[in-house]
Amino acid sequence: WVMYKDDIEISQSCIPKPIDQVAREVGLLPDEVELYGQTKAKVHLSALKRLKNQPDGKYIVVTGITPTPLGEGKSTTTVGLVQALGAHLHQNVFACVRQPSQGPTFGIKGGAAGGGYCQITPMEEFNLHLTGDIHAITAANNLVAAAVDARIFHELTQTDQALYNRLVPSVSGVRKFSDIQIRRLQKLGINKTDPTALTKEEVNLFVRLDIDPGTITWQRVLDTNDRFLRKITIGQSPTEKGFSRMAQFDITVSSEIMAVLALSDGLDDMKKRLGRMVVASSKRGEPVTTDDLGVTGALAVLMRDAVKPNLMQTLEGTPVFVHAGPFANIAHGNSSVLADKIALKLVGKEGFVVTEAGFGADIGMEKFFNIKCRYSGLRPHVVVLVATVRALKMHGGGPAVTAGVPLPKEYMEENLQLLERGCSNLNKQIQNARMFGVPVVVAVNAFKTDTKAELALVVQLAKEAGAFDAVECTHWAEGGKGAVALAQAVQRASQAPSNFRFLYNVELPVIDKIRLIAQQIYGASDIELLPEAQEKVTLYTKQGFGNLPICMAKTHLSLSHDPEQKGAPTGFILPIRDIRASVGAGFLYPLVGTMSTMPGLPTRPCFYDIDLDPVSGEVNGLF
Ligand code: ADP
Repeated sequence: WVMYKDDIEISQSCIPKPIDQVAREVGLLPDEVELYGQTKAKVHLSALKRLKNQPDGKYIVVTGITPTPLGEGKSTTTVGLVQALGAHLHQNVFACVRQPSQGPTFGIKGGAAGGGYCQITPMEEFNLHLTGDIHAITAANNLVAAAVDARIFHELTQTDQALYNRLVPSVSGVRKFSDIQIRRLQKLGINKTDPTALTKEEVNLFVRLDIDPGTITWQRVLDTNDRFLRKITIGQSPTEKGFSRMAQFDITVSSEIMAVLALSDGLDDMKKRLGRMVVASSKRGEPVTTDDLGVTGALAVLMRDAVKPNLMQTLEGTPVFVHAGPFANIAHGNSSVLADKIALKLVGKEGFVVTEAGFGADIGMEKFFNIKCRYSGLRPHVVVLVATVRALKMHGGGPAVTAGVPLPKEYMEENLQLLERGCSNLNKQIQNARMFGVPVVVAVNAFKTDTKAELALVVQLAKEAGAFDAVECTHWAEGGKGAVALAQAVQRASQAPSNFRFLYNVELPVIDKIRLIAQQIYGASDIELLPEAQEKVTLYTKQGFGNLPICMAKTHLSLSHDPEQKGAPTGFILPIRDIRASVGAGFLYPLVGTMSTMPGLPTRPCFYDIDLDPVSGEVNGLF
């Protein structure tokens, strides 16, 4: 245990390679790379087209046991593993990770660049604005929100003919529908392209989206933890003529547009998803989409740079794509399909792409398989499951672990009994990964308080539970060198047969899909749908969305719905409070309990420690 330096001190003590050199090393052509300064670049999607006949590399997903609120080191291990594979075992590698939100960076949790000697660098670029993708999402999301309320307002205050004259204006005496308006007419079953040929009824259908304000599901967003925006009243100026309603702000990364970015596999696909997003129902009960609002093209324009993955590097100079960062509860919590696809081509057949799935294996990994891999068509070779002694002791009945509070003594001293009991959670998460037919390598992320006997016990129990292999790692303290044994285990596992399968067929009824996840992955005996959820099952099935995959919005702190239930609980009934739809991204998300989509700031937020040195221009205090 060689250090203790802050993450940012370590990051700043390493001089990154110029990013154009990294781009050359991975085989990108100069016209496929757009430099954003010295340390970041965007990569054009044309690279994917050029490499389309190249075989894909091995696809590795890093996930974890049910964590403590402190996190058990998935990002750190993702970086450690690629550093070991790339810088020590000289393999072609890429890490693909999510871009963090500024909410937690300035709030409670801090950044997400990894930690210790396994980081993406420069971490102040990674954790802050990067290349502006999140800001683009804020702009696109809020354009939709403005379009919804403005449209309701205009429809309330104008006649059909006045609306028609404004929506289809005469230019030099000639009216013409735009492409998006022709799409809307076709959707309404009106196969006319001559704007003078519409009947009165058709004009009425065309100009009135008739949004039912009570059904609006589209919210405004901001990338700041601002709890006072959780519930607001909009439209209070007299210019809105009394059209006022309750609304809310969510954090930007929870926007459906973030999930769309993460799941799109090209510009065309992104445009289709952006146009399919449902913002409300009409008074007739039909879904109203972004395409109906006429905003699809503008959204695609706002997102045209964000769709390109961002190239960065680790402390040991191996390449990283940082791209998209959807919420892991109301969305699927995985980085982008496009970054993974480009990386898999760039590393070639013998290379490795390591990507991380947010939260524990019951959530992030399940969604990685059932949602991300289903849409991308990519097939994983190995699951790396990160476990720590501290989290397993907590699962064995150890006292609560709280951010900002020193760890109780159970976590500072050897306690094999607590640890062995807590391995029930490790065992269940190993079974969860094996259910998908993919070999599992357990990475035991060692902390300085762990004893030799404790680490050996976790390795032994993981193997007994059916892991392909289990390895102790010290990469946080030692960098890639500390994960060489893990990298070798991953190499071996990637040669083993992987019989990947989905957990469910999307054509199953909505309730059956939810029940399958609850029983098989969480250990529930059954599910219970509260009335609101039941109504949504009926509505979405009627609207034709019943065959979308399921994205469970559940706490990550327990396999069950109750964060206090540790270990591997069984026999519980999982309550489904409500169900929402992200139709553009392409999933239904059942709410298991209440989910906050706008975090708040604690009394002493991380920003107290963040500072800028006016002489050197260096950023201090990020972690
Ligand atoms: P996750 O991705 O699972 O949320 P992270 O990789 O972000 O977890 O790690 C959470 C925090 O724990 C980070 O601050 C990281 O530096 C720290 N950490 C991770 N592994 C270790 C370790 N072995 N020893 C000490 N701190 C660690």
